[in-house]
Amino acid sequence: MEIVFLGSGGGRMVLATQARSTGGILIKTDNHQIHIDPGPGALLKMKMLRQDPRRTNVVLLSHYHTDHSGDMEGISEAVNEAVLISIKECLIGDNKVINEFYKKFYNEIIEIIPKKEIELSDLKITGTKTIHGDKSIGFIIETEGKKIGYMGDTGYFKTLSKQFEGVDLLIINVLRPNNAYWKNHLTTNEVIKILDEIKEKPKSVIITHFGLKMLRVGPLNQARRISLETKVPCRSAEDGMKILLEDVLEQTSLFGRKFKT
Ligand SMILES: [Zn+2]
Repeated sequence: MEIVFLGSGGGRMVLATQARSTGGILIKTDNHQIHIDPGPGALLKMKMLRQDPRRTNVVLLSHYHTDHSGDMEGISEAVNEAVLISIKECLIGDNKVINEFYKKFYNEIIEIIPKKEIELSDLKITGTKTIHGDKSIGFIIETEGKKIGYMGDTGYFKTLSKQFEGVDLLIINVLRPNNAYWKNHLTTNEVIKILDEIKEKPKSVIITHFGLKMLRVGPLNQARRISLETKVPCRSAEDGMKILLEDVLEQTSLFGRKFKT
């Protein structure tokens, strides 16, 4: 299974400057190409990274903020035999990000809410709760015997961590470094707290969705801090980063230090 980061930026200033791209994440399995949160730049990044949007057959949309949804309609025009999974607020009403014309490009559109499980052949998608000010959701993606958690945009809350017990890989949107708190988003300190709370820890963590403050401090430093303080191998996403899940899960050491697993 391959994971491609079409972007690693987030928040208003990084969206506006494209200091990091905001194209979302591709998960490529034998039977599926899953596009999570196709923000602005998704189509362009796919071209640059030689990824084919016509192979996308599942789109997961966590919420309607533009850094997650800006290229939705362009991507919709490209997809084939595809299923769109999102919350109701992205699909109908004042804040919908896909109009009726582009909905017709999908075989099926499925509304998701926290804890709801959706099965599509060898793929299971479960919604996870977020607190993000506006309506939003996270996802657990299970396929090929592996579990990937995507926390979506959320602030810290008491039961956030519990939802991701036992995932293999956890992808966390971390807008800000260290203790630079910002409502409805996560900081590095909060990620460390979340990982400490999880009993059955992820085998690996990838942080992404960086705001300007995070980029100034350096996501690599923050990933290193998370690794050292939680003993969970953590890396920071780069625009265009491609990883094989199997390789990432085998990795038990980072920065020359052995971790006990
Ligand atoms: Zn958001």
